[in-house]
Parts: sequence; structure tokens; C-alpha cells
Amino acid sequence: MRTSLDGETRTMLDADITTNRSARWIERSEHRSVCCRCRRPRSRCYCSLISPFESEPRFIILTQPREAKHRLGTGRMAHICLTNSSLFEGVDFSDDKRVHREINDPANCPVLLYLSPASINLTRQRWSERQTLFPGNRKLVVFVLDGTWKSVRKMIRSSRNLARLPKICFDPPTASAYRIRREPRPECYSTIEAIHQVIEILTPVADPEELVSRPHDRMLEVFRSVIDRQLIFTA
Ligand SMILES: [Zn+2]
Repeated sequence: MRTSLDGETRTMLDADITTNRSARWIERSEHRSVCCRCRRPRSRCYCSLISPFESEPRFIILTQPREAKHRLGTGRMAHICLTNSSLFEGVDFSDDKRVHREINDPANCPVLLYLSPASINLTRQRWSERQTLFPGNRKLVVFVLDGTWKSVRKMIRSSRNLARLPKICFDPPTASAYRIRREPRPECYSTIEAIHQVIEILTPVADPEELVSRPHDRMLEVFRSVIDRQLIFTA
């Protein structure tokens, strides 16, 4: 009886195991008919509605694991819309190399979107004041915490590197359209709405003709359409 395997045989077996696992996952997802991008049932996949675009500023979405599994998590939706975004899953990012790399990159100007007494409220800044907040020779990178308010507070308490970042916030101009999930106050925005609002505030006022086709507005239209469809399904 053979008790050990040579390297080549082990590699082949490992490859078989990996292939079998992948095959099983594809088989399962095909059986369940789940889209591998939005992770929604194919009958409710919204990917065809999305027009991906590169945003200014760039966003790094940090998703709480339970939020990542939520069928209507808008962090993933925003990530699919924004071609230059990153999405990392976790709670404590203190030792996360990817987050450290982004924070310590001298080309970046990293900030955290988070409401606190120390946060710079972008809404209350004049356009000229906003321009001076972020050095022009560095790229603004906005970290966004994606989860319930309770889980987001835990993320910030656990992640010392994020807690030390300069924080920005805004005054929501309207109530949230996220009518299918309960939040403490109607103005509490979902992740995709918050990202849209930051882009909106930091985008120079366009001439009226350009207003009809702004890509970040299209992102919000997808979100509203998904919510409307979901409300029909649950009505
Ligand atoms: Zn999809």
C-alpha cells in the first residue's frame, strides 16, 4: 500500500481536487442559476442594466462578511458599476496588506467616509474649500464601510489603520430610496447611494446638456430599478 506521494502525483491530485471543486461550484451555481457577478438568482440578475465607468475619486469598499452574503447588498452593486474600485471583505483590516498598500501609497490621498464629530462635512464646504482639502498632486481614495450601522461601528473599532484616516461625511439631500431594509433614520444611505453622493459633491457642475448622461446617476438608476423589482416580488 502506498503511504506517500511524490510531488508530481500530489500536484496532479491537487489539480484534480481544485478542478473538481470548481466543477462542483459551477454545477451548483448552474443548478441554482446564480449569477457569479452580482450573486443574484439569474432571474433577478441586474448586471445587464449596468454601464460600468471609472469614477473620480476612486473607492475601496470594505464589506462586512454578513453584508457580502446579503442578496441586496449594494456594496457589490457599486463595485460592479465602478471599474476602478476594489472590494475587500472583512471586519478587522488592521493587518490587511491590501489596505495598508493603499493607505501608504504616496500617490494616494486616503480618506474614510464615516460620520463622526471630527468628519469634514463636504456639503458644508464651498467648492473652492473642497479643492484645498485634498492635495491636487495625489489621487483621492475613499474607503467606504459596507454593512449595517452596528457592524460598521465594529469595523472601525477593530481597524486602527482606518480609524486614523481623515474622515469625510455629507448631509443627505433626500431620504434614502432603500425602502426594503430598516435603518435607524430615513436619511441613512445605502453604500451605493453614499458613493453616488460623494461623486456628486466632488464633480464639477456640468453644463445642463451633460446632466442627462452622467454615469454616476446611471448607477443610482440601476439601484432604484432593483429595489422597485424587489418590492414587486415581495408585494
Ligand atoms: Zn448578475
